[in-house]
Amino acid sequence: MIPGLAERLADVDARITDACRAAGRQRAEITRIVVTKFHPAQLIRDLVTLGVTDVGENRHQEASAKFAELADLASLRWHFIGQLQSNKARQVARYATVVHSIDRPALANAFGDAPVLDCFVQVNLTDDPGRGGAAPSELDALAECVAAAPGLNLLGVMAVAPLEVDPRRAFAEVRQHAERVRAVVPSATALSMGMSHDFEDAILEGATHLRIGSAITGERVLRG
Ligand SMILES: *Cc1c(COP(=O)(O)O)cnc(C)c1O
Repeated sequence: MIPGLAERLADVDARITDACRAAGRQRAEITRIVVTKFHPAQLIRDLVTLGVTDVGENRHQEASAKFAELADLASLRWHFIGQLQSNKARQVARYATVVHSIDRPALANAFGDAPVLDCFVQVNLTDDPGRGGAAPSELDALAECVAAAPGLNLLGVMAVAPLEVDPRRAFAEVRQHAERVRAVVPSATALSMGMSHDFEDAILEGATHLRIGSAITGERVLRG
């Protein structure tokens, strides 16, 4: 077991519980995804021992290698949260339970029909297209495209709070964008937002899926 891992996980979970209480929300509404990118497969094994059910990865090569190494962990759910090339979509669908980063029609159209994959459309809150995510003005059309894709089930909207703004305001903005998506797909009520440094603000603004890495795993060791 990696030193300090159990303590950091317990600490983050206590903070999630406190933030739910402050927001008047139920803890059960929230899925806590531990982002394990750049960490070895053994860390995921340790996390599963500690009761973790959902992990997040942002690069296909790394994720598929870990998935193969951890094939015995049959009930673990894998969330793909990174930018994705269309020609990798079908490969990601083999191991991912949820893809959080659908950001363009070509990617939505690149998944096969089966198995049906849960997904989020990602909105970019910055002016930098390199950050990933669709521009807010493109979001409704993207949601329509996902709704029409037979292999995708739209859960909601995903975003990363930009470094340069108050995260609470950024998450409030995501909520507004999500309302427009819900006008297209009424069942798409989920919000994937909140990372190590801002998950409490995200909970206050209605996050249903938290993507928390370094606050639980410690510093990323392999790279980045
Ligand atoms: C790395 C990553 C996270 C987790 O970041 P931390 O700051 O380590 O919690 C969440 N979401 C995405 C999209 C990421 O790439």
